[in-house]
Amino acid sequence: MKLLIVGGVAGGASAAARARRMSEDAQIILFERGPDVSFANCGLPYYVGGEITERDKLLVVTPERLHTRFKLDVRTRSSVEAIDRAAKKVRVRDLSTGREYEESYDKLILAPGAAPLRPPIPGIDLPGIFRLRNLQDVDRIKQQVDQGVKRAVVVGAGFIGLELVENLVRRGITTTVVELQDQVLPPFDKEMTTPLAEHLATRGVSLLLGQSAEAFEKAADGLVVKLTSGQRLPAQLVILGVGVRPENKLAVEAGLEVGPRGGIQVDEHLQTSDPDVYAVGDAIEVKDFVTGQPTQVPLAGPANRQGRIAADNIFGRDTRYRGTQGTAIVRVFNLTAAMTGASEKTLQRAKRAYRKVYVHPTHHAGYFPGAEGMALKLTFDPTDGKLLGAQAVGGAGVDKRIDVLAVAIQAGMTVFDLEEMELAYSPQYGSAKDPINMAGFVAAGLLRGEHPQADVEAAVTASATGRPLLVDVRTPQEYAAGHIPGAVNVPVDELRSRLRELPPDRELAVYCQVGQRGYLATRILAQAGFEVANLGGGYQTYKLFYPQS
Ligand code: FAD
Repeated sequence: MKLLIVGGVAGGASAAARARRMSEDAQIILFERGPDVSFANCGLPYYVGGEITERDKLLVVTPERLHTRFKLDVRTRSSVEAIDRAAKKVRVRDLSTGREYEESYDKLILAPGAAPLRPPIPGIDLPGIFRLRNLQDVDRIKQQVDQGVKRAVVVGAGFIGLELVENLVRRGITTTVVELQDQVLPPFDKEMTTPLAEHLATRGVSLLLGQSAEAFEKAADGLVVKLTSGQRLPAQLVILGVGVRPENKLAVEAGLEVGPRGGIQVDEHLQTSDPDVYAVGDAIEVKDFVTGQPTQVPLAGPANRQGRIAADNIFGRDTRYRGTQGTAIVRVFNLTAAMTGASEKTLQRAKRAYRKVYVHPTHHAGYFPGAEGMALKLTFDPTDGKLLGAQAVGGAGVDKRIDVLAVAIQAGMTVFDLEEMELAYSPQYGSAKDPINMAGFVAAGLLRGEHPQADVEAAVTASATGRPLLVDVRTPQEYAAGHIPGAVNVPVDELRSRLRELPPDRELAVYCQVGQRGYLATRILAQAGFEVANLGGGYQTYKLFYPQS
């Protein structure tokens, strides 16, 4: 077996190592256009900021190591220029010498990744404007930063953009983020990003949402970024983090099928439309694990697993890729945001029925010092309670909860399973009722009809027309510190004695701070004959939707 692999980082290097473990006899050649293989793309922003101090640490494995340990023929600075599928050959250009040659294959794996988008904006080629994909990019950015940058503009508030923001601020650079959408981290539901936007402001980051760069101009002290709003931002460094596009040129020119957004199409064995050619990683179109629809998810975990799976199949093991859940996490200064499965907006786009709940627990027992809060949102099927997605934002413990929920989604679990989950607990780590259990209790209670719940957005919009009546069941002090406009205040502890103050013929929506006292209030009111629902996640969820109020 002669196996050629195009691309030597996440998907390609994984495929190569797995292929060798599957076969000692195979001839395996790994082509990589750049000078490095298997480097840590995900660590690059932290090298700019100085949290990772040694460049060498970013080189996870060297070509020499791949050769000695895995007997791989690693050819760096070698670009695969074309595939001749009929003759089963590729044309390779040695970028060091300019020499071109052909290499035949029995099987070919494409792992060329995705390239950062370069929008056709006037001035985009000016010095001082960078994108970040590899070590050469990071060297250029770091060199600029080391020379002394006072102001930076990051265009795009996605994962990489925000990671860079954190690291530029760490280097003492005044940083502005420009984002076309009306939220940071566009894969998340907007309300879940509210704490991040607020947190960025506390760190001195200017966040310009709903705006885009329209031109870059040279200035005496660097550059000026001209926005569509007319605003002009001076900067000595601009980083573009506006997304990626699959590197599909080879595949397209070879006549392999690609999807509408450019991802190479593969089946569950990661085989392309040519049975001798496999494709993995950021370059491919995958099946969304939850909706079943085709999508593109540029993440390292899927790329690494896909590399293994492609190699397995080539060497006769029937391994299937189940689809991508989009489990992702990012640190933004002191906050962590993480998600898995379908977001609410994905479900809406897919026209998939769902229900949702919000809880606002602490990451471990509240009585133990250092408990940090989080907002946790679940989406699930309204009939059988099957989990569809989860998002969390907060301090410590967000990673653990999203990973547990990622497994639950993968296992096809329901909100009823979350009620029953037995998770590790001592006060430093969790609670006897873990945030996962709490989310399960609320969601399962909702489906069982024990816990009528109204969505904050719906209730607040409806309240403008006079229905339902919002009842704030928190203390007068909490109410005075901020409440939903139009709400009346009847603290839960006084509710039983003040029932007569509430209109018996009007629907009520009660809320407290996070939903717990509201739940008790709905039980009291429902048993007294009122038509009542609890606002899911209480005032804290309201503040996610309406942070300015
Ligand atoms: P890549 O890792 O991009 O590798 C593709 C390689 O193929 C490239 O080195 C390219 O030079 C080479 N190549 C392309 N065409 C050819 C050709 N014709 N001939 C020869 N070689 C070719 N993901 C996460 O899950 N978590 C993170 O925290 C995270 N952080 C990131 C931070 C940054 C700054 C970046 C850039 C990415 C980050 N990612 C993260 C995304 C993750 O790195 C990618 O999803 C993953 O590397 C994709 O793997 P891949 O093998 O498909 O492509």
